[in-house]
Amino acid sequence: MISQTKQNSRLSKRVQSIKPSGIRRFFDLASKMENIISLGVGEPDFITPWNTREASISSLERGFTAYSANAGLLELRREISLYMDKRFAVQYDPETEVLVTVGASEAIDIGMRAILDEGDEVIVVEPSFVSYAPLVEMAGGVPVSVGTSIENDFKVSASAIEKAITNRTKAIMLCFPNNPTGSTMNHKELQDLVSVIERHDLLVFSDEIYAELTYDEKHVSFASLPKMRDRTILIQGFSKAFAMTGWRLGFVMAPPDLLAAMLKIHQYSLMCAPTMAQYGALEALRSGLDEVERMKQSYKQRRNYIVKSFAEIGLTCHTPGGAFYAFPSIERTGLSSEQFAEKLLLEERVAVVPGSVFGQGGEGHIRCSYATSMDNLEQSIERISRLLKSF
Ligand code: PMP
Repeated sequence: MISQTKQNSRLSKRVQSIKPSGIRRFFDLASKMENIISLGVGEPDFITPWNTREASISSLERGFTAYSANAGLLELRREISLYMDKRFAVQYDPETEVLVTVGASEAIDIGMRAILDEGDEVIVVEPSFVSYAPLVEMAGGVPVSVGTSIENDFKVSASAIEKAITNRTKAIMLCFPNNPTGSTMNHKELQDLVSVIERHDLLVFSDEIYAELTYDEKHVSFASLPKMRDRTILIQGFSKAFAMTGWRLGFVMAPPDLLAAMLKIHQYSLMCAPTMAQYGALEALRSGLDEVERMKQSYKQRRNYIVKSFAEIGLTCHTPGGAFYAFPSIERTGLSSEQFAEKLLLEERVAVVPGSVFGQGGEGHIRCSYATSMDNLEQSIERISRLLKSF
């Protein structure tokens, strides 16, 4: 057995200082229990559409098993460029401004490593996806939280951002539609952030992985705002809208200098994204948008159901405009989000994620993913309602 002190000295101080994700503890607990209904996982309940799978299988049959170009198949980058222009009105040169990554996760990682020096600060708008702050830290940076709240539908304002800016602030991390709140920001609300970003010469990470999944208004890409394209690292991926989480495929778009820096890290650490997955993705973009729409309509139906049901059982919940999460308030129970989630799991066997794991503004809420069957949703509502009656 290696002693704890010796073990610690084997690990970098940087890694030791990073806290394990709060989500994991919950899933460890839930995985040991039976008959659980899970509203916990952040992934589609659809299997990847057949055309996409078939194209990937066919690439293997044809023997396309070698590395692709470091930046990804040029054919795929061209298709991505056309897709982004058509769907979100942003234009990127496939040869110098698009990089195919191993999930949006890799894009965030290499983006941080490309721009941060030791001690540089990144403003992270929270509640947020749990990876942002650790990835900033692993790149040597310092994450600075700016919280949002249900009173403002979890949207961020220019004044909240401005208050957090110091002379070390290098970038800001935005994610709309948001995980975990499902919140979206429209053109005007995003436009309001532009002057503070320009005044302080900030870079912007815009994680738009849920861009296709908006239910009330069309998504506005941050990079489509006047003068913002040159400052934006635009992150996208296939995991959510195309139901391809296990394929590990995303993409990032940025001006050539930023993209070249990310490509440098990517080519040394990963060489390229998996070639067979890239062939699947190519087909997903060419012929899979009807499927995306079909899945979206199904999420929308479930969103409407869960929001209405939370209101009926007396839980305050803002209407999430996108993604597949609802983020109701459990404040009236007097419990912390972790206590509530644990009680719900142990007494009613419904797994949700406590809002506290998503950072500032998350406490007092639980994240419920509605990417599960209507039957599961109906049963969960019944069980949550029963638990609430015990208070
Ligand atoms: N960004 C957000 C906001 C997410 O919710 C997720 C997945 N939960 C990711 C990025 C990572 O996606 P990928 O599977 O493409 O790495």
